[in-house]
Amino acid sequence: MEQTFVILKPSTISRSLVGDIIERYQRKGLKIAGVKMMQLDEKILREHYAHLVDRPFFPLLLKSMMATPVIVMVLEGKDAVSVVRTMTGATNARLAAPGTIRGDFGMSGQENLVHASDSVENAKIEVARFFRPEEIFNYDLITASAIYSPDEMN
Ligand code: UDP
Ligand code: MG
Repeated sequence: MEQTFVILKPSTISRSLVGDIIERYQRKGLKIAGVKMMQLDEKILREHYAHLVDRPFFPLLLKSMMATPVIVMVLEGKDAVSVVRTMTGATNARLAAPGTIRGDFGMSGQENLVHASDSVENAKIEVARFFRPEEIFNYDLITASAIYSPDEMN
């Protein structure tokens, strides 16, 4: 099954929303394949946000992402990358649709609670950037047959 990469950003940690947000992923039917807490530094953020390093807000983004430790996750499921992006909502949380994480919990374009990979290719790169292979677990969800039909489980 497809894997995607998520960061519960410092805004989620600071606002004590970790449980609410992880609950959403689990209730959706996504499997947690990996999860850990870590302190991000400038080096990893310059790689992770390489597409933004020249933007004027980048120094503020760096500060925001290093404000507290974060929780990084690998979520697994059918079409997990697009499913989790849809659950995430638009970058600017003020514009994000109700029902999305950013739409329901956020008011900011920067303090927008979560990162989620935007493509299958980037998900693979991001999982490898933040996790060692032994930190990702291969196990069966016993509820899988109630989450998917048999022809969806590959
Ligand atoms: N960001 C920001 N100001 C902007 C655009 C982005 O502070 O005008 C921050 C915001 O936290 C966002 C992150 O940079 O989540 C990465 O930007 P990207 O365009 O990749 O958005 P995302 O994929 O997170 O929706
Ligand atoms: Mg992005």
